[in-house]
Amino acid sequence: MNNLRLAALNEHKKTVVTVGRARFGEGLVIIAGPCSVESEEQTMETAQAVKEAGADMLRGGAFKPRTSPYAFQGLGLQGLKILAKAREATGLAFVSEVLDTRDVSWVAEYADMLQIGARNMQNFSLLKEVGKLQKPVLLKRGMHSTLEEWLNCAEYIMNEGNGNVVLCERGIRSFETYTRNTLDLSAVPAAKELSHLPVITDPTHGTGKVSLIEPMSLASIAAGSDGLMVEVHRNPSEALSDKDQALTPQQFARLVQKARALERFMAEIP
Ligand code: PEP
Ligand code: MN
Repeated sequence: MNNLRLAALNEHKKTVVTVGRARFGEGLVIIAGPCSVESEEQTMETAQAVKEAGADMLRGGAFKPRTSPYAFQGLGLQGLKILAKAREATGLAFVSEVLDTRDVSWVAEYADMLQIGARNMQNFSLLKEVGKLQKPVLLKRGMHSTLEEWLNCAEYIMNEGNGNVVLCERGIRSFETYTRNTLDLSAVPAAKELSHLPVITDPTHGTGKVSLIEPMSLASIAAGSDGLMVEVHRNPSEALSDKDQALTPQQFARLVQKARALERFMAEIP
């Protein structure tokens, strides 16, 4: 992959991306929260719960890229204001997706980190727009994208001057239908041997199944992931998006305990 100039490992030291108190590239960063911001109560309650369980950052979609135009599209500006309140209440910085170039500058006034979703990974105008800011970017891998295409998208952002990029493996589409996607865990060490950027995984969208999130989170850590992003809902059966893959706060708390134990174990290995 000799077309990478800025994202390539080469002589670069490993990059650490700081978002609030989270430092991607140093220890395990755990991001948790609802798929969508649905209401102030739902978001506040979930934010408090994930904070108590040990999350480092909050997530929540205000703009949702939904398969159907009739599905819940998110609360937009109101959603970002709710996330900002949750940040104030918990001290957790938050990441939220931006879908449109026209929204980048004002979404960046609220969010601590901008998410480029899988469906927009190769939206080059959007990549250039977030590249013009210094705001950290969480770049998800497109569901049909190769490692090379993904890393070149990081290059697009960095080429505009923003080096604060974190890569997120969220599963690719395969012939398997039991899981929503196939979480490509080999992409974690592969991306890390090609690039100095931190790499995290999203076992929630990567599997689409509550029962598989914990094992694939632990497997991600064993594969060298710098962090996890998981969806948590106070009452998953009532979630307005992705209800089959939302953990309850209790399930999330247990996941954090195991993840931290594995993180400590991995750190002890010379
Ligand atoms: C999300 O994280 O809210 C999301 C929509 O994920 P993806 O872009 O990976 O499907
Ligand atoms: Mn989701």
